[in-house]
Amino acid sequence: MKIVKFGGSSLATGESVAQAIQIILSDPQRQVMVVSAPGKRNTTDIKVTDLLIKYADLALKHKNCVEIVNKIFSRYQEIGHYFGLADTELSIIKQILLELPNQGYPNEKYLLAAFKAHGERLNARLITLVLRHQGINSRFLDPAEAGLIVTGEPNDAIVNPESYLNLDQIKIKADERIVFPGFFCMTPSGNIATFSRGGSDITGAILARGFHADLYENFTDVNGIFAANPHIIEHPQSIKKMTYREMRELSYAGFSVFHDEALIPAIQGQIPINVKNTHDPSNPGTMIVPEKDFVPDNAITGVTSQKHFSALYLHKYLLNKEAGFTLRILQILYQHNIPYEHMPSGIEDYAIIMVVGEGMRQKHTISRQIIDSLGDHDISPQMINQGASQISIMIGTKKEKADEAVKIIYQKFFN
Ligand code: ASP
Repeated sequence: MKIVKFGGSSLATGESVAQAIQIILSDPQRQVMVVSAPGKRNTTDIKVTDLLIKYADLALKHKNCVEIVNKIFSRYQEIGHYFGLADTELSIIKQILLELPNQGYPNEKYLLAAFKAHGERLNARLITLVLRHQGINSRFLDPAEAGLIVTGEPNDAIVNPESYLNLDQIKIKADERIVFPGFFCMTPSGNIATFSRGGSDITGAILARGFHADLYENFTDVNGIFAANPHIIEHPQSIKKMTYREMRELSYAGFSVFHDEALIPAIQGQIPINVKNTHDPSNPGTMIVPEKDFVPDNAITGVTSQKHFSALYLHKYLLNKEAGFTLRILQILYQHNIPYEHMPSGIEDYAIIMVVGEGMRQKHTISRQIIDSLGDHDISPQMINQGASQISIMIGTKKEKADEAVKIIYQKFFN
């Protein structure tokens, strides 16, 4: 069985929803569809999730919400009408939207989470209506009913392992399609909590693990994951296959196609992930697979940069003789809730370039080649850190040199 997740840009219009349905129907294994809220229809459009955040804000201030509710509802109505659904069938969506401010919430954060969650919750209901209208045997499954439980912050929740036991109890008939809303789950006390933004990817991964799927297909609007940022490199190659940990290293330094937190359930269940394009479904996209049996065909899989890092340079004699010094420094950072990236190093604005590839483990000259080629272009690294796993090298450069450094490294290893 396959879990198939569609992002907001893949479900923004009736036409794209039709494409998504076609994808689902073209493979009987694609039984569980995880949906995001309708995204942007064009570059100036507003995502339904962002409209809901505005709605929550207005509701909290007891302002008039008629206009925003109509705006949100019109997004669902537009999709419903595309498939010939009557307004009487769609009225339930408007009703739920109108009732949102009247539900009880423990505090404002939970109110915000519940409003946001309805982007996906209503979209899953709508898509179920559409499928049924087309005579397709389908069922809307809500996280509350499925027993998807989370803890932590209401708008940055963490899945509770109990969810997997609950998912194990759910029976899916062989000829049935499940439509599941992404992005949110329930707290043990029955409130809605969402993952961080883009979190429908996480729901897809949880279901993939919970339902013991053979594959987690993640449909977006690009042909897989590129080896470098297309805003920096013109027409970069797309990555055919990469390992979980390569994806992890790259996503933490700026690759945003796939939510980094979504890797964890997939890794735990050892379920391969396939990032694909809704508008070009025959393109193989990018496979993200377990490390075992992976044979790299390039030394480097991807290169990325992340700007706006600060470096603290601490200078003290006889540091090596003093026990507990770094511990105390880290304690200060911890007390102020500041995450850190790199230990051994005036404050300046830095960028971090991340070069990632399983293929680097067999080749011992990669770091030299990188440093030499940067040096040839007059870029001197401010710091270098090779991960113990040997599949990544992190190079600190001055912020203004970051894009150029990515280009140099990309050209060196991909052209
Ligand atoms: N709709 C949510 C967001 O815009 C979650 C998602 O799309 O994955 O962040």
